[in-house]
Amino acid sequence: MNNRKVRVRFAPSPTGPLHMGGVRTALFNYLFAKKNNGHFILRIEDTDQTRYVQGAEDYIIESLKWCGIEIDEGIEEGGAYGPYRQSDRKEIYKEFAESLIESGKAYYAFDTPEELDAMRERLKEEKSSIQQYNAVTRTDMRNSLTLPEEETNSLLKESPYVVRFKMPDNEEVIVEDIIRGKVKVNTNQLDDKVLFKSDGMPTYHLANVVDDHLMKISHVIRGEEWLPSLPLHVMLYRAFGWEASQPEFAHLPLLLKPSGKGKLSKRDGDALGFPVFPLEWTDPKTGEVSRGYREDGYFPEAFVNMLALLGWNPGTEEEIISMRDLISSFDLHKVHKAGAKFDHEKAKWFNHKYLVNRSDEKLARLYQKVLREKGISVEDIYVINVVKLIKERTNFVSEFWDQSYFFFKAPTEYDAKFVKKRWKDNTNKILSELKMQFEIVETFNHENLEKVIQDFLEGKEFGMGQVMNPLRLTLVGAGIGPGVLEIAELIGKEETLRRLQAGLDNIKKE
Ligand code: GLU
Repeated sequence: MNNRKVRVRFAPSPTGPLHMGGVRTALFNYLFAKKNNGHFILRIEDTDQTRYVQGAEDYIIESLKWCGIEIDEGIEEGGAYGPYRQSDRKEIYKEFAESLIESGKAYYAFDTPEELDAMRERLKEEKSSIQQYNAVTRTDMRNSLTLPEEETNSLLKESPYVVRFKMPDNEEVIVEDIIRGKVKVNTNQLDDKVLFKSDGMPTYHLANVVDDHLMKISHVIRGEEWLPSLPLHVMLYRAFGWEASQPEFAHLPLLLKPSGKGKLSKRDGDALGFPVFPLEWTDPKTGEVSRGYREDGYFPEAFVNMLALLGWNPGTEEEIISMRDLISSFDLHKVHKAGAKFDHEKAKWFNHKYLVNRSDEKLARLYQKVLREKGISVEDIYVINVVKLIKERTNFVSEFWDQSYFFFKAPTEYDAKFVKKRWKDNTNKILSELKMQFEIVETFNHENLEKVIQDFLEGKEFGMGQVMNPLRLTLVGAGIGPGVLEIAELIGKEETLRRLQAGLDNIKKE
């Protein structure tokens, strides 16, 4: 590695919501920047106006914020190398395209879409291995290399044109990718890509290379889908004479579907039963809503931790890693080449781990919101105690209610299946006797209740299950929940006795 100041960029196109693979790219850039005391830059690549989607740029910014990925230079933050939105840099690219024409590295092309189609047809008929505009086919087309100068000049004034890169003949392009190793291509395999379009906008390739150069980007870290563009980009650095300051490249492995077959695409998300977007997204055209990790109840720390381990690990068994530790252990050289399989169950497991590690007070605050929405008003301390008992059994705060509703309201009905299985002929008698024992307990905590039950069972011909299961039924109404004596302790003596009596009155085995 050279001694340049580390400057990396995340360069999404605002063509829709950011996919979780995109968030991972941003995250790896961020981790690498922070690890190396560098800068993380957000550059919006919006030169393809036909694919622009309303709201996508804000969505990207909000997603990064939610994940705790801090931007050093960007649209909102500013910086010495702005503007950071490519549509605001339009004028810059034209000059660079023209400079390539002047040096003979690019040319104007006037071919209409029909002429281009005809070329493709012709090549197909000839069964040619060439399928594109390149060193061979360019000689038959209408461009500034084949047309007389006057004609070129007048066409430039009156008809639409593009600028194409003049891909040199038979040159070796060799570039070392940090993750993939040596990438080697002969220019004969490459085509004359359009650099500047007839709408006055640069293409991705030109704008991307020019901006990486002008913004002094030291490392380009991006998804594997951009690997095929790498040789062209290297050729552009050569054409501009920027080889000496060319960034280093690292192409990240793809995120694969849970089956391991194929790339995890934007469309897979809701269809496969999990979100593929960090935040919920409403399509501005169709109104269709796609799920988001945030709205699904994931903690951003859990989401980030899960993403960081898709295609990389610190080389230890450790899986729960804070952003701080991710930064200190991050190493681009340890990123895997093979695609990383996304595992939804594992994602939930990460959230579970972060949830149980959260303080009961914090979780109670989140749960209070849910309770208030249900019109339930209880003291914080009570909710804290509930959370303490149930959090191990959940992955999300949204699951709290199903695990704990009985702490807030007495059962009004009883699970019929459970009654059938657990409410025996002698149950009424057993519970009535137990109730009497409970009535005389002074300090009504689960330890004391446990002792009461043990004494109660002594010398009797029935066991623990015949007491505890029906007791649970009276307190909860079903066969769920944490320890039944803990439940009794928390709802308190009075409420326990009331529910016990209600159970005795109302539960009848058919
Ligand atoms: N605008 C490209 C994208 O949407 C950026 C690719 C790159 O990082 O070079 O992913």
